[in-house]
Amino acid sequence: MNMLISVIIPVFNEELNIPIISNSIAAVFEQLTLDYEIIFVNDGSTDNSLQALKEAEKTNENIYYISFSRNFGKDNALLAGFDFAKGDAVITMDADMQHPPELIPKLIALWQQGNAVVYTYREDKNEYAKKINQLSSTLFYRLINHLSDVDLEDGIADYRLLDKKVVAILNNLHEDRPFFRGLVKWVGFQQTGIPYTPQARAAGTTKYNHKALVRLALQGLTSFSVKPLNIAIYLGFSFSALSICYLPYVIYSLLYGKAISGWASTIVTIVFFGGLQLMILGIMGIYLGKLFMQSKQRPKYIIDEMNIR
Ligand code: UDP
Ligand code: MG
Repeated sequence: MNMLISVIIPVFNEELNIPIISNSIAAVFEQLTLDYEIIFVNDGSTDNSLQALKEAEKTNENIYYISFSRNFGKDNALLAGFDFAKGDAVITMDADMQHPPELIPKLIALWQQGNAVVYTYREDKNEYAKKINQLSSTLFYRLINHLSDVDLEDGIADYRLLDKKVVAILNNLHEDRPFFRGLVKWVGFQQTGIPYTPQARAAGTTKYNHKALVRLALQGLTSFSVKPLNIAIYLGFSFSALSICYLPYVIYSLLYGKAISGWASTIVTIVFFGGLQLMILGIMGIYLGKLFMQSKQRPKYIIDEMNIR
């Protein structure tokens, strides 16, 4: 029996990119003489992406699409792809051509050599990548690695190949808002990574603004560690220790009857500790919120239509 490779592509307002990436991937697989399927997951696009997918499907029988009822986020789109992929290996990549399709043969070769996961990481060759890395990634991964138990490499992309045994595990995690960058590392097995140089977007604009990136960072951090909860304990101890230093001054004032003026310092202290407590409450709130969302067991996505039987 021939090997089948599934390519999963999340799509959110990528109407112009759909024909481009479909053709590039088809060209790659024609060279490889491997069976393949491309599963586009339309994550509630508001442009003509769905029409573009229906057009693409007519031209190539290997193209499938799943269309959500609204935007559920990229990770849930990937999850839907995992649910329906039939391949012996699954490749996930972005729709905007930033993940070069020419790398696919290399991903497959490394898989055939026995790797269950072949991931990719950005190499800073051009200015575009440098800007992105310097800003968000480096700090983000440092923080995650420091605070959690899985080691993530800097610049890891959502462009990777997964063996079907790994896909089966990811499918059964049932995590609310799965953070795949961490989860893929967490499953273990033999893994290897290859560098790639990200290209500029073929068309359209990025779907992640600064607000979304901060949300993603918090998501990544809190889904892999409970260490932030310890911050309260450390800070509590530190400030208790600090406050002891204040004692000699209090005793001195008491003995010598000096009037304790210092309204400003009192207020500053109150404001400072008020802020600190709110911050810690916020951290606990995030974890509580995760429990809440998880306990509801809502479906991770809702399919409006698809052409997979
Ligand atoms: N995407 C998605 N749902 C979203 C946001 C993005 O499916 O809510 C898709 C998007 O269409 C693209 C991929 O995720 O295929 C990566 O998005 P983008 O290129 O905007 O991210 P960036 O490369 O700027 O990090
Ligand atoms: Mg992109």
